[in-house]
Amino acid sequence: MGERPTEQTTRRSGGCLCGGLRYEIRGPVRDVIDCHCPRCRKWSGHHVAASSARIDDIELVGGATLTWFHPVDDPDVAYGFCATCGSSAFWTHAGLETWSVCAGLLDDDSGLITSAQWWTSTAGSYVHLDPDVPAFSTQPGPSDAAAPPPA
Ligand SMILES: [Zn+2]
Ligand SMILES: [Zn+2]
Repeated sequence: MGERPTEQTTRRSGGCLCGGLRYEIRGPVRDVIDCHCPRCRKWSGHHVAASSARIDDIELVGGATLTWFHPVDDPDVAYGFCATCGSSAFWTHAGLETWSVCAGLLDDDSGLITSAQWWTSTAGSYVHLDPDVPAFSTQPGPSDAAAPPPA
């Protein structure tokens, strides 16, 4: 990927299928990481493909339907979705200063690429993993040289 920066500063907006959830991002967004972990599979119905942005840079301009789900076995994790239409929107973990932003909800995803595939060990057998994208059987650890920033 050469000299390509991994973060891009643009003004982006996004929203859910029904329009009840709308947001704007003013600041850098990360490239997309695919996560095939069991939770992300269940939550998304496939796998999560998420960019990421700082919470401070995300403004909910229509957030009345945003609902957070906390897995009972790990309540510090939060999955944000639209309670009306079910669109998968955000992921975060207590203490993080970022929200993962499901890339499919962005109005304009130009310039973003898929930079990593996480949890390939639990990916669906029907999934076509991209041999050109770095893959991790679970997720990269902090000592992994190829580790992207946290999702
Ligand atoms: Zn909605
Ligand atoms: Zn996951």
